[in-house]
Amino acid sequence: MGDCIFCRIVEKQIPSKIVYEDDSILAFHDIDAKAPVHILIIPKEHIPSINDVKPQNCDVIARIFSVIPQIVENLGVKNSGYRVVANSGSDAGQSVNHLHFHVLGGRTLSWPPG
Ligand code: 5GP
Ligand code: ZN
Repeated sequence: MGDCIFCRIVEKQIPSKIVYEDDSILAFHDIDAKAPVHILIIPKEHIPSINDVKPQNCDVIARIFSVIPQIVENLGVKNSGYRVVANSGSDAGQSVNHLHFHVLGGRTLSWPPG
């Protein structure tokens, strides 16, 4: 997926501030943080969006959620609260077509979102 910016981050062709990495997932600070804590967690495999998730992707999706408690603890928002968001498609404002979960925290987050 040569022109995918997140694949290039996975390949370390583009630098990022990594907070967690293992064989199948990567978590790093969003370059344009919308909250004091704003992390993106991605599968290393190029999956364009939630629409493309298949049963064989269950392990990596579960792994993403299994590391969130440790990531939010390390970032100091485990108890204050945080939000996990995956935008899918244009109405949701998805701008990078590589599945990613935003983790936002460090301030009161409005609800419902705009
Ligand atoms: P989306 O709008 O698709 O839900 O989220 C994409 C996110 O990726 C945005 O919050 C944007 O700031 C972030 N982003 C885009 N390009 C880069 C980049 O090169 N590095 C990092 N760390 N984040 C990026
Ligand atoms: Zn990609």
